[in-house]
Amino acid sequence: MEKLPQGIKAALIDMDGVLYDSMPFHARAWHQLFTELGVKSNPDEYYLYEGMTGADTIGMILKRELNQDTTLEERKEIYARKSDLFKDFGEKRLMPGAAEMLAALKSLGLSTVLVTGSAQGNLLDSVNIDYPGYFPKERMVTGNDVNKGKPHPEPYLRGLEKAGVKASQAIVVENAPLGVRAGKAAGCFTIAVTTGPIPREVFEKEGADLIFPDMISFARWLENI
Ligand code: CA
Repeated sequence: MEKLPQGIKAALIDMDGVLYDSMPFHARAWHQLFTELGVKSNPDEYYLYEGMTGADTIGMILKRELNQDTTLEERKEIYARKSDLFKDFGEKRLMPGAAEMLAALKSLGLSTVLVTGSAQGNLLDSVNIDYPGYFPKERMVTGNDVNKGKPHPEPYLRGLEKAGVKASQAIVVENAPLGVRAGKAAGCFTIAVTTGPIPREVFEKEGADLIFPDMISFARWLENI
């Protein structure tokens, strides 16, 4: 059985698809948003962009599909519509196994930091109600805190700063290929949990150090090391 590297002190944890089973609702909201903007798409496509900031996703797709340039302000306005759609679709579902994972990390003595590209206020506010004590404000990196979203390493580099540890002392927990790429680019031991429709091979290609099929099996593994 694989092991965690020696000397790990912190876990940098993604939110959507890791703590919340929210990706199906995000995918639907993105699909609906771009349909409204006159862009045809497949809802599953959005799993591939997961981890990017909303503004980056909007800019990329409008450029690609409509050859349309947008200002950051315009992208933020469009993102507000996506956030509303997500709220309409999104009954909040906790990811099975996430609470057990956090408890196991804590009992291993690791501090926990939230690192998400999301700026979705309703979910961010929920984190400390649903997972109390794990993510105080000073240990949260959100889409509002970074200039460059995943797959750029900046979000995880900010997470390392907040944890006060070096890259070699932190693990990253991700469900998205671009998130795994960001974790690896930041120099962290990166664990992929494949909670969505994207096959395991994609995560292998991104260099994930360990891959689990769901959060429950990752939590069980942590409980047994
Ligand atoms: Ca995610």
